[in-house]
Amino acid sequence: MNNSGAQKNSETLLISIVIAAVLGLICGALFGTKMTSISWVGTFFLNCLKMTIVPLVVSAIICSVGSLGDIRNLGKIGFRTVFYYTCTTAIAVAIGLVMVNIINPGDGISLIDTSATQISKEVTESSLSDIPLSLVSPNLIQAASNTKLLPIITFSLLLGAAITTLDTKNNTIDKFFNNLNAAMMQIITWLMYLAPVGIFSLISSKLGGAGGGEAFWSEITAVGKYVFTVIVGLGIHCLFLFCLLLIMTNRGQEFLKGMSRALLTAFGTASSSATLPVTMECALQTDMNQKSVRFVLPLGATINMDGTALYEAVAVMFIAQAYGIELTTIQQVIVFITATFAAIGAAGIPQAGLVTMVLVLSAVNLPTEGIGILLAVDWFLDRFRTATNVWGDSVGGAIVEKYL
Ligand code: ASP
Repeated sequence: MNNSGAQKNSETLLISIVIAAVLGLICGALFGTKMTSISWVGTFFLNCLKMTIVPLVVSAIICSVGSLGDIRNLGKIGFRTVFYYTCTTAIAVAIGLVMVNIINPGDGISLIDTSATQISKEVTESSLSDIPLSLVSPNLIQAASNTKLLPIITFSLLLGAAITTLDTKNNTIDKFFNNLNAAMMQIITWLMYLAPVGIFSLISSKLGGAGGGEAFWSEITAVGKYVFTVIVGLGIHCLFLFCLLLIMTNRGQEFLKGMSRALLTAFGTASSSATLPVTMECALQTDMNQKSVRFVLPLGATINMDGTALYEAVAVMFIAQAYGIELTTIQQVIVFITATFAAIGAAGIPQAGLVTMVLVLSAVNLPTEGIGILLAVDWFLDRFRTATNVWGDSVGGAIVEKYL
């Protein structure tokens, strides 16, 4: 297909996905739990995307090590990328803290549902040392089957580096991974034709499962100021910080349009890992260079979670306010630091942020049961923060391409 044909195709697909998402919201609101009968369609789409992640990430990282020639080059880029992502994540937390201190969403809420949640039980034993430990896995197959990408990335970096030490002229292993990567991108292009139905099903069944429009509205209004604070904070982060960074890269509206399919997929799936194949495909179409597409984006999908970080800071402060506990400046600094690391450690899967938030709550001695009050609306906020996470990865790719 020629270039204009491909562009027309991708525009039609984008419009179909937007229509599907809107229809999903309408049908979920109107038909409620009936829509859960089609949730399998969304699961099918999600599984199709997930099945491509491991071969895609392995081949992309190995190729990127190969194309940079020397592992030390990659080390330099890797270090700068991690530094850049950590800085934007910290800015996101700071925005969250400022917003929550201005709006005070928890004031006036004193009734906390103290039913102990499964989530808090699951994570009370995790700590910050889990983050370095998560870099490697004793069982790569198990890591792959749980879509734990960090050990896969570490191993692929090592394997890629080892391959460069072999005789690279006519290196068949090198060629194999390049071809595998190109084939994976082709599969993702095909899978995108399923996106409109997949996203329609994911959104309508989730909203329907939450009881439809009326039930959902009453849940939202119960913690309305909190939902408002998170969404406005995410909006500020995306519109001001990311737009400023984008302008610095001489990219603008076209880039946003090019990445929109990935953003809508993130909104539909609430998983930045599952969205990664689409993010990489869209980035390639915006002519982002291979270094960013193959290395920076997978790394971003794994460690860069600006939306999650901002939301965790707001949620923790909201819980404190709802309990009537005033956090001192020092405690807020602790929230700032732990929320940054908790977001880095969160997996790119639905509601992972809710789980790692327990680290932040424990760091300032807040009752982890407070999470109970957030549960009903979390699936909804998850979609906004996942889209922010993916948008942050994409802008990061553009920044690394231009400056690092
Ligand atoms: N669902 C988010 C993601 O995949 C993580 C979270 O904030 O729960 O990026």
